[in-house]
Amino acid sequence: MFSAEIEKFIKKGKYPTFRPKAIFFDMDGVLFDSMKSHASAWVEALRKVGLPFTEYEAYLNEGRTGSSTIDVVFSKVYGRNATDNEKQTIYQLKTKFFEACQKPKRMPYVFELLKKVQAQKLEIFVVTGSGQSNLIDSLETHFPGVFNKDKMVTAYEVKQGKPHPEPYLKALKKSGFEAWEVIVIENAPLGIESATKAGLFSIGVNTGPLESKILTNSGANLVFNSVKKLYEQWEEFCNICN
Ligand code: CA
Repeated sequence: MFSAEIEKFIKKGKYPTFRPKAIFFDMDGVLFDSMKSHASAWVEALRKVGLPFTEYEAYLNEGRTGSSTIDVVFSKVYGRNATDNEKQTIYQLKTKFFEACQKPKRMPYVFELLKKVQAQKLEIFVVTGSGQSNLIDSLETHFPGVFNKDKMVTAYEVKQGKPHPEPYLKALKKSGFEAWEVIVIENAPLGIESATKAGLFSIGVNTGPLESKILTNSGANLVFNSVKKLYEQWEEFCNICN
């Protein structure tokens, strides 16, 4: 069932083949079940400064840097971007509300999926728009022995966050692989858009409230309704890749 999507990807990118050697994992909503906390923290922080924002909008804008998310809201309400001071105030509030939320847990079945990927000797990268230092630090606590600080691209390293292709292009450069040698695993439409613009094969895992077709429309090559579903079909998919 996956071969048609792989053929389509090779043809569109005019690639010689598709032979994955590395997997680029998004963090929030893929590795951590943290999006509910992010979404409610955004809603509360923006409400505090009198700006309307819903959790659904937070999911639609997931993957942007904090600064870009605040600009989206300001543009809609005031027709201009936020100033640095306004951004600082709102982002501090958002961080405060986020940290008051329950500590995010691992997404169900993602550790098991990572272990399969490790056993296949595929390289593992993290590509995230997050600048939440506590979450990045806690990768090692939650996934001991899986991640390597040299194989990460975070909000600190990119000028333009998702949906711009920069985060995934940066990861591709760091990895040293070709576009047809990596797979992106993402849960957010803007993350999929970023991966697609970077010319990469993307797997959408729909772990939030958005309709799966939004991920497909953003360019996802495959969409699964949960990380568990992807975990269950991983071997079948990999057999077709090789
Ligand atoms: Ca995400």
